[in-house]
Amino acid sequence: MKKSVKNRREFLKTTGMISVSAFVLPSWACAAGKTAMSGFTAEEIPFEQQPLPYAYNALESVIDTMTMEIHYSKHAAAYAKNLADALKAESVDKSSEKLSSLLGKISKYSAKMRNNGGGHYNHEFFWKSMKSPVESNSPQSAIMKAFIKDFGSFDAFKNQFAEAGKNRFGSGWAWLVKTADKKLVVGSTPNQDNPLMDVSELKGTPLLGLDVWEHAYYLKYQNRRPDYINAWWNVVDWKVVQKRFDAA
Ligand code: MN
Repeated sequence: MKKSVKNRREFLKTTGMISVSAFVLPSWACAAGKTAMSGFTAEEIPFEQQPLPYAYNALESVIDTMTMEIHYSKHAAAYAKNLADALKAESVDKSSEKLSSLLGKISKYSAKMRNNGGGHYNHEFFWKSMKSPVESNSPQSAIMKAFIKDFGSFDAFKNQFAEAGKNRFGSGWAWLVKTADKKLVVGSTPNQDNPLMDVSELKGTPLLGLDVWEHAYYLKYQNRRPDYINAWWNVVDWKVVQKRFDAA
C-alpha cells in the first residue's frame, strides 16, 4: 500500500501533474463518521470553533483580509457561541453526540439550534475547503471521472454550481453533494441550512459548499455575487474535496 502510494507520487512528480505535498493531508481530512439519522458519511466538525487554517490575508486575491477577519472572528464566532448556548439550553450531551448526527435530526430541536448548528458546521467546513491559490488547481482522478459521468464535464459542473449560488435568493449556500446512491448533485440551501439536515430539500454528503451570504463578499464585490463565485474557484482545495468524495 505504502509502496503504491510512493510509486504514484513518483509518477505524478515526474509527469509534473501534481506536487508531492498534494498527498500530505491534515489529519482532520481523514475524520469521517456515519451520521445516525441521515445515513450519510459526513466529515465530522467539532462543536467548538477551530483556529482558521491560514492567515486572514492568505486568500487575499479572492477574499480580502478584512472580509476574512470579520467573517471568521465575528460572524462564524457568533454561530459557534450561539450553538454552545443552544446545546446547553436543550441539554445535548456533547460527549455522546456528534454535530453531523445532530444536524441529521435537526427538526427535533429549536430554530436557534438549526441556525447556529448549521452556521457553525457550514463555516468550519468552508474554511477547510480553501487554500492559497496554486498554479494547477483542478480535481484529479476519481472525482474528475464522477464530474464527467454526472455532469458531462468539469466545466458543466462549475456552471451548474455557479448558477445554484447566483440563483439562491437572499442568503444561503451552494453545495456539491454525494447522494446516498453515490451520485454527484449540485444545489443550494437557504440561510444556514445544509444537506445533512433532515429538513433540507437537498440531501447528501457535502463535498463542497460556498457561502453566498452578502457578509462573505460584499466589501470586495458589493452586488456582484457572480464575480465572487467566479473568483472563488481559484482558492478551492480540490485535494480536500477528493478526500471527502473518497470517504462518502
Ligand atoms: Mn458566512
